[in-house]
Amino acid sequence: MRLKDRVAIITGSTSGIGKAIALAMGAEGAGVIVNGRRAEAAEQVAGEIRSAGGTALAFPADVTVPSQVEGLVRSALETYGRVDILVNNAGGVAGVPPTQYLEDVLEEQWDKVLDLNLKSAFLCSRAVAKYMREQGGGKIVNIASEASRVIHRGPSARYQYTAAKAGLAGLTRAMAIELGPYGINVNAVAPGQTLANERQQSNWNSLSEEEKARMVQNIPLRRVALPADIAPVVVFLASDEARYITGATIDVNGGRTLS
Ligand code: NAD
Repeated sequence: MRLKDRVAIITGSTSGIGKAIALAMGAEGAGVIVNGRRAEAAEQVAGEIRSAGGTALAFPADVTVPSQVEGLVRSALETYGRVDILVNNAGGVAGVPPTQYLEDVLEEQWDKVLDLNLKSAFLCSRAVAKYMREQGGGKIVNIASEASRVIHRGPSARYQYTAAKAGLAGLTRAMAIELGPYGINVNAVAPGQTLANERQQSNWNSLSEEEKARMVQNIPLRRVALPADIAPVVVFLASDEARYITGATIDVNGGRTLS
């Protein structure tokens, strides 16, 4: 068990990639703190980890709100006495509708996406860093995206999402420099398109075979990802095996950004 006796906070772990990371870390022996905004959904995932023989508790919090982030980390410390791993996974387009042109992006839509994908990681990392320093080490893994490097054409929340995820890669490097001397590794994982939850899976299923083939033609491995492709990389970065890696953003996109 690669994460035995470690305590891991995984933000946004009630569904999708975050849930897969929570289950994988539970299976590797970590005490998992399942986070999401809804208590019921977080409790359900924590229950799944416990049923599989792992240790997990549900700590609901909105990670864009500083007081809730402080509360999340305080509860973790009060319960377990330490925090060894933070995975900043909560993210997405925050329900912002697609826009074709820059001038159509509303300021509140910009703020919403930046808050969810970038500010949340800053708030959570700031909250755990001082305890990790006192403990003498820790691991922070940020879930970025291929969207930080590749611009998808067509209507989307691409301005905000691209800026937020590119910012997350920058935040990863800046924190790695500051926190490295304290034994804290900070890395990011940048997934490509991933069928992470039921909504994304059913959107994919509704495409014709020709549309699916077109979508994977720029991916050398010729398929989109599943959460099970992403989670093991995060577990690796959170383990001792990755002790000499810091400041890296690891592409997990089937080679999509190579050309
Ligand atoms: P998802 O919608 O299935 O999961 C997002 C999770 O974040 C959910 O558990 C949700 O409850 C939680 N969440 C949302 N707002 C929150 C808040 N304010 N506070 C706390 N929790 C909150 O999405 P996913 O596709 O699994 O995405 C997970 C991460 O992976 C995101 O950062 C996303 O940007 C990134 N990513 C996803 C893909 C993809 O194709 N699915 C590709 C690249 C990167």
